[in-house]
Amino acid sequence: MKTLKTFFHIGIACLGVFSLCQCSKSVSAPELEVCQWAGDANAAISYTFDDNCPNQFSTVIPMFNEFDIHGTFFPVINWLGGNYDNIKAAVAAGHEIGSHTVSHANLGELSTEDVIAELHGSRTTIEEVIGNGYKCVTIAYPYCIAPDSIELVADDYINARVCDGRVDSTDVNFLRVSSHPLGAVFNRTSCEDLISIFDATRAKNGWSTLLFHEIDEGSGYSPFPSAEIRKSLEYLKENESIYWVAPMGEVARYIVERETYTLDVHQENGKYVAKLSLEGLDEEIFNMPLTFKYTKKDGSLGYINLSPDEVAEIDF
Ligand SMILES: [Zn+2]
Repeated sequence: MKTLKTFFHIGIACLGVFSLCQCSKSVSAPELEVCQWAGDANAAISYTFDDNCPNQFSTVIPMFNEFDIHGTFFPVINWLGGNYDNIKAAVAAGHEIGSHTVSHANLGELSTEDVIAELHGSRTTIEEVIGNGYKCVTIAYPYCIAPDSIELVADDYINARVCDGRVDSTDVNFLRVSSHPLGAVFNRTSCEDLISIFDATRAKNGWSTLLFHEIDEGSGYSPFPSAEIRKSLEYLKENESIYWVAPMGEVARYIVERETYTLDVHQENGKYVAKLSLEGLDEEIFNMPLTFKYTKKDGSLGYINLSPDEVAEIDF
């Protein structure tokens, strides 16, 4: 009887193990798919401001801070007059400071040596004065003219802006990222003009960069009214599931990481975890989280943001 009982118990235990095995076989690991843009947005939008016109610091940055939206600002080093307070405050508030060279020279007319001095000198000055390990990764070519030896730009920057009014797609040329010039000179001074660019960008699942100079009244180039920028920010906030608004440097980092990452998904203590790796990329620059989507066990859609080299539990 005792033998029979033991046999019975062993039989139940075996059945239990068997059914557990069957069960774990039928639930496969979550399949994570990288999203084209952060937050699974349909399109990416970058606001950029050239030439350190004073109203960019006194009007635009406080307005962007109000909306918790970040832009890219391209000061000319020699035009800052040795006062770096504005650009330091901009970075502290989460905005990007890119380079617009040392002297706003036409890079297409300079010797190779002078091109290198403009590219390298502006980047190192910005990084030194801002400090705290800040990396200046984006440049806007003065007059939208790239140097003849454009490959030199990649020694100092990961992306560079021209101004030919295109929507960029996933196979963007990082040494010629497009932008849409705005303001009075281009007869584009309204929020509606910006929304038409947003619409076109969404239709292509692409990336558009907006190019501003002077804001409101001032002596700078091609003024654009701040009240219309404010309306556009309200519009983007209302549609934030559709548009990812981020500085150029963040969008470029996201694209590079998205094309490079490897993912390890495995079980730890019965739970699925994921680890994102970015082999071969400079970890001081490429540290943006990527958004992944997946189908949960119950069939609903799940999202997870993964930062490089962090192990994160997947809500599966
Ligand atoms: Zn300029």
